[in-house]
Amino acid sequence: MQNLTHFVNGEHIEGVSGRFSDVFNPATGEVQAQCPLASTEEVNAIIAKAAAAQPAWAAVNPQRRARVMMKFVGLLNRDMDKLAEALSREHGKTLPDAAGDVQRGLEVVEYCIGAPQMLKGDFTDSAGPGIDMYSMRQALGVTAGITPFNFPAMIPMWMFAPAIACGNAFILKPSERDPSVPLMLAELLKEAGLPDGILQVVNGDKEAVDALLHSETVQSIGFVGSTPIAEYIYATGCANGKRVQCFGGAKNHMIIMPDADLDQAADALLGAGYGAAGERCMAISVAVPVGEETADLLIEKLTSRIETLKVGPYTAGNDVDYGPVITAAAKENILKLVQSGIDQGAKLVVDGRNFNLQGYEDGFFVGPHLFDNVTSDMDIYTKEIFGPVLSTIRAKTYEEAIGYAMDHEYGNGTAIYTRDGDTARDFANRINVGMVGINVPIPVPLAYHTFGGWKKSVFGDLNQHGPDAFKFYTRTKTVTARWPSGIKEGGEFSIPVMG
Ligand code: NAD
Repeated sequence: MQNLTHFVNGEHIEGVSGRFSDVFNPATGEVQAQCPLASTEEVNAIIAKAAAAQPAWAAVNPQRRARVMMKFVGLLNRDMDKLAEALSREHGKTLPDAAGDVQRGLEVVEYCIGAPQMLKGDFTDSAGPGIDMYSMRQALGVTAGITPFNFPAMIPMWMFAPAIACGNAFILKPSERDPSVPLMLAELLKEAGLPDGILQVVNGDKEAVDALLHSETVQSIGFVGSTPIAEYIYATGCANGKRVQCFGGAKNHMIIMPDADLDQAADALLGAGYGAAGERCMAISVAVPVGEETADLLIEKLTSRIETLKVGPYTAGNDVDYGPVITAAAKENILKLVQSGIDQGAKLVVDGRNFNLQGYEDGFFVGPHLFDNVTSDMDIYTKEIFGPVLSTIRAKTYEEAIGYAMDHEYGNGTAIYTRDGDTARDFANRINVGMVGINVPIPVPLAYHTFGGWKKSVFGDLNQHGPDAFKFYTRTKTVTARWPSGIKEGGEFSIPVMG
């Protein structure tokens, strides 16, 4: 049994709180490691160390900081297979999917190599007589992030890469379900030349999060996870005067128009609905076919494809489409929601409840489920299931279909499948969802755009990565400088107007 650590000032340190949580191998159900859960005192000590290290890092010129990111990219590529294996072992996702998790984080690190350009200020020459005005972006100080289990490489990198490139220290509180990859990332950053104390990894649960939320030293909190926790962290962090951005849960709809290529749409739904066992905030969990004929055909095409899905452990390599869910409790919750769907009158077209994998009976595997005739009042529609369960809600018209996505409380991602440019354009313009795919099922923006949902999928103002990250992790300071030549008029008592 492995005992995991915290990563503080460039070293692995053991937890001393005496509290631990189990880290499972979801494919076998075995406990493979113990994750230390930090106490408030431990977190406060780690924050103090970060605060001591940060000013020197902020004083390093931006291109030197960027070179650390450049070196880090090389190390991530060097260790890609190792990282993916560690990630799959704790999370359960397939190896190619785990490599994608690392890759999508790496791309944001690459973007952060451009930090010197992003941090350049604005300058107005001669804003008034003898007056120049300039704005600069300065690091916040000690920043922190709390991340979910489902992307243990990507989301930490989305936070700490821009935070660090801006000159901040960053304290990462990863998910206690799969903390090994975040610890490995911290080791790699040290190898890349990051000074000690600038990326600290503190493992823990609510106690550690609360210590970060109530610390006077921590200037900003980034959070990605479920909506109830996002709401709590946003409210508490804001009440404590911090800059906070929280990204929450999702229920992503895909509208399938009668003119869509239905084979293409069914293939897309298969990957977007069941990939990573549905444990993606950008998973499509609701299919909305428009018209009875479209719905009947879609269900038929989906059913035959779902029958070919290969569910198994990551050790099966490329020969598996998706793996187990994260814990036994997650599996139980998914199956409970499936039962509620049946009880509330939805038609279970593909039933994955009795899925069993020989040799892996104790693993947290959930077979694929497909529901038809779902209505908007059912729990399987209103709640995030976060499992391999696709619900079909039939719409008579495009207006009814777009209405479902608009009225849902979540607004992370959505997609439309159509051959009609007019419909696609109308959809993109009107939909109240943050990330929109047109004939693209999982529209995750690239690193140089920003990532974020709308409605209950987000709390805060700025998105993740892209230019928004550089705004979130810096404060603007604007200097008005006057170097008068022989101007000695005495005091001015009205507000200065330079026009
Ligand atoms: P979670 O909310 O259970 O946990 C997220 C983090 O919060 C973890 O680090 C956890 O330790 C911490 N936490 C848990 N309970 C807490 C509490 N009571 N107080 C303080 N901190 C607490 O989420 P999860 O199960 O790890 O991740 C899945 C969720 O994340 C889904 O809802 C998914 O949609 C969402 N998600 C959203 C995005 C996005 O960008 N919108 C991306 C990925 C995942």
